[in-house]
Amino acid sequence: MGYGQQDSQELLSYLLDGLHEDLNRVIDKPFVEIKEDDTRPDEVVAEESWNNHLKRNRSRIQELMHGQFKSRLDCPDCKKISITFDPFMMISLPIPTVEYTKFFLYFVFNSHDRIPIKITFNLPSNSSYSEILSKLQEIVKVPKKNIVMGLLKEHKLIEYVEAKVDALYLKEHAGILFAYEVSPTPFDPNYGKKSTQDDSTAVTDEEPTQMETENDEDPSSLIQTLLRVYIQAEAKAFYDSEKTISYTRLVKFEPSDSFKDIHLKIFERMRHHIAKYLDKEKGIKNAIKLDDRSRTTIEKEYSTLFPEDNESAWMYKVHLINSSKEDPRTGKKIPCEICQKAKCTRCLFPYEDTKFESYLEKMKLAPKDIIFELKLASKSVKIDSLSLNQCTEHKSDDNETNPNRNYNIYDCINLFTRKEKLEKDNAWYCSKCKNHKEALKKMEIYKVPPVLILHLKRFKTSKTSSIGPFYWSQGKKITAQIDFPIQGLDLSNYVLGKDKNAIYDLYAVSNHYGGLSGGHYTAYAKNPLNGNWYDFNDSRVSPVKENEIVGAAAYVLFYRKRESPSAEK
Ligand SMILES: [Zn+2]
Ligand SMILES: [Zn+2]
Repeated sequence: MGYGQQDSQELLSYLLDGLHEDLNRVIDKPFVEIKEDDTRPDEVVAEESWNNHLKRNRSRIQELMHGQFKSRLDCPDCKKISITFDPFMMISLPIPTVEYTKFFLYFVFNSHDRIPIKITFNLPSNSSYSEILSKLQEIVKVPKKNIVMGLLKEHKLIEYVEAKVDALYLKEHAGILFAYEVSPTPFDPNYGKKSTQDDSTAVTDEEPTQMETENDEDPSSLIQTLLRVYIQAEAKAFYDSEKTISYTRLVKFEPSDSFKDIHLKIFERMRHHIAKYLDKEKGIKNAIKLDDRSRTTIEKEYSTLFPEDNESAWMYKVHLINSSKEDPRTGKKIPCEICQKAKCTRCLFPYEDTKFESYLEKMKLAPKDIIFELKLASKSVKIDSLSLNQCTEHKSDDNETNPNRNYNIYDCINLFTRKEKLEKDNAWYCSKCKNHKEALKKMEIYKVPPVLILHLKRFKTSKTSSIGPFYWSQGKKITAQIDFPIQGLDLSNYVLGKDKNAIYDLYAVSNHYGGLSGGHYTAYAKNPLNGNWYDFNDSRVSPVKENEIVGAAAYVLFYRKRESPSAEK
């Protein structure tokens, strides 16, 4: 073994493997063919693999210490699934070392009369987009598939958040995170249709009904544009995101909509706020009929509030932010399609019949490039009474995500059994794709042995290299304390196989003190005769109290299975 052997876990594997081979009753190991058949039930394949293992390995060590893993690999490309059952002598458990990241987002409901929520999260930094969405879904009760996230800066969309990001990215980005509820269908399925007399059929946002078949459509692929509401007089304060007069809303329309249609849809998005304002400030009760979302009604209200011949009466003006592109043929900026000016950044959006798709096409713009701004008539509109800037707060449960809590052995097992994507340099060869793939891997415990050895992976070995007796490492030792039970470690929920008896009691611990390059080992072990624990430290043996066994030095844990759950001491 030489000088290089410094690790008690490595020594142990080496020793047990050697002992097993020396004690192996199988002298001539038969060749065992491995059948690849994914269609058979786990039980059959697991048993076959185990029997194959026994054909070559029969020893006291095997009987006491060998268990069986189930490992599943999913090819990301061809969807091939490979399931194997492999023997183990020790389970190396990863230690959760996740840092937590605190960040917030604004959630804006689709329903006009629900005010946005500012939600503060405290999540593991590597939480995936999907995990963040799941948390969000729990809080706002909106299905994941109906949520789109965007990063906004100065009320402009920097980017739609996509699957590749994690929590840390969301914290460290430059913008403010917004999440929008979108229904995969336009706001009101009755919108644009001729109004019927039966208003009770009006579909509310909470009940996507007969349109559910379209739900497979990616909501971010539909045209939806951010709607920023601003007021000139407060322009200075406006860019300070905390003092905005409106949380940026989302409006959805279709490519075939005309400019008029879009005006009406924006108005429709604003109606609830305008109604509140008219009621509060002007004492006008029935100018807007919120229950009625038919086009006829909306159009009528619009023409009353926005008379064509009297611009000064308008509550707001709609501007289209012009993010003009270069013409690939001429290399010049494409002039504004609306005002024809070469340098137009913000254009008054006319109320006319032009189709929006023809504007997009001529400007070479994608739907997500589009942002509308509403400039409020500053003198006549009181901002507060519009309630566009209202928001409630939600803080996620701190107990659940408290970064300072102690992890326990079950957290490590959970992490061990979690699906993980293989790194590039550890890619899996997919026999169907005939190529190495960064497959999804999931490890699970199928069968547990009478003596279970759990190794806490305290040393990051990823960048360790050794030449002769010397070690270099850029890794570090994880010194966090992992709590583990001395009596009654219960793995029955983790064991997939049919023998669910998996209650264990601790009988020894290998401790490691110090850092990566050096350090000192001691061991705790229980005397089976008197039931007392002892500390084995070099040549000294001293009694140790049971409540001192669990500590940050614990490195390898030795458990013995209870014969039956009732045989408790
Ligand atoms: Zn223009
Ligand atoms: Zn494949």
